[in-house]
Amino acid sequence: MASNEFDLIARYFARQPVQRSDVALAIGDDCALLEVPPGCQLAVSTDSLVCGNHFLSGMDPALVAKKALAANLSDLAAMGATPAWVSLAITLPEADEAWLARFCDGFFEMADYYQVQLIGGDTTKGPLSLTLTVQGFVPQGQALTRHGAGTGDLIYVTGNLGDSAAGLAVLLKQVTGTDPELAEHLLNRHYQPQPRVLAGQALRGIASAALDISDGLIADLGHILSRSNVGAVIDVERLPLSAELLAFCGGDLDAAGKLALTSGEEYELCFTVPAHQRGALDVALSHAGVKATCIGSIRTGDRVTLERNGLPLDWQLHGYDHFSG
Ligand code: ADP
Ligand code: MG
Repeated sequence: MASNEFDLIARYFARQPVQRSDVALAIGDDCALLEVPPGCQLAVSTDSLVCGNHFLSGMDPALVAKKALAANLSDLAAMGATPAWVSLAITLPEADEAWLARFCDGFFEMADYYQVQLIGGDTTKGPLSLTLTVQGFVPQGQALTRHGAGTGDLIYVTGNLGDSAAGLAVLLKQVTGTDPELAEHLLNRHYQPQPRVLAGQALRGIASAALDISDGLIADLGHILSRSNVGAVIDVERLPLSAELLAFCGGDLDAAGKLALTSGEEYELCFTVPAHQRGALDVALSHAGVKATCIGSIRTGDRVTLERNGLPLDWQLHGYDHFSG
């Protein structure tokens, strides 16, 4: 970038309060030097956000930062990992200090909350985009993967589903006349997803498979099915829907259910649990303070089947052609 690149890095990126003891050397040298605790594996994940594609150019930079970090921390949560470090490659059209200051406020607010340290990155000039790499620890052999689901396992999701899609519809003005307070709530759910970091760690040794919902429950559950060579049945009556989503849908349960099945960027966890682990699951989740709802079960096959009261449903879900009822 321009000659003031080092100024920018020093002023904005190298000022985080969190200083972890496992970081021997952080921002300022050619590499960071880091210590992985004995007996742990390192879980690593990268995600990019491109302006105009993943977020709109007018979006509050603090929210852009939080959303980028939340999406990345959600991947660690889905593996049952404890977050530790993050690096940030940022491309900026110009050295817009007001934008950077706001971005860093949001970034460090969330990073500090999760005790994640920014350990390095890169700063370049060009169209606005961000690439984050997060790293976390998971005890040797205990990571939650996508390939362990077995026939008869129960399928759960954390939290509620569908609010993020409703918030996006409000944002894109695809709907009008939404009550302002309701619109505000749904927008907030879209802009400020909460990565399920504690829930992910609580599921270690209990869940047989897990992932986070970034592309919609149906699409993401499909990844568990293909990696585990199994099929699934979901009872749409059991989908966890918020009161706000139902209000947004004017009480139309089918419309709310369809949003819940396809809403991306929820960053809730979807996981499978062998039936004999149900008690252990309830204890673990109550300790983590997280709600999870059983929405169906794993069976033989390779598809998701939707049911209501034991009868198959043939809902056409917009955008998911590979879906079968
Ligand atoms: P190099 O040219 O050796 O790759 P840079 O000049 O790109 O080094 O970066 C100098 C230091 O600042 C490095 O430690 C790098 O990790 C850090 N850094 C650069 N950009 C960022 C950023 N956006 N966030 C955090 N650290 C950064
Ligand atoms: Mg560099």
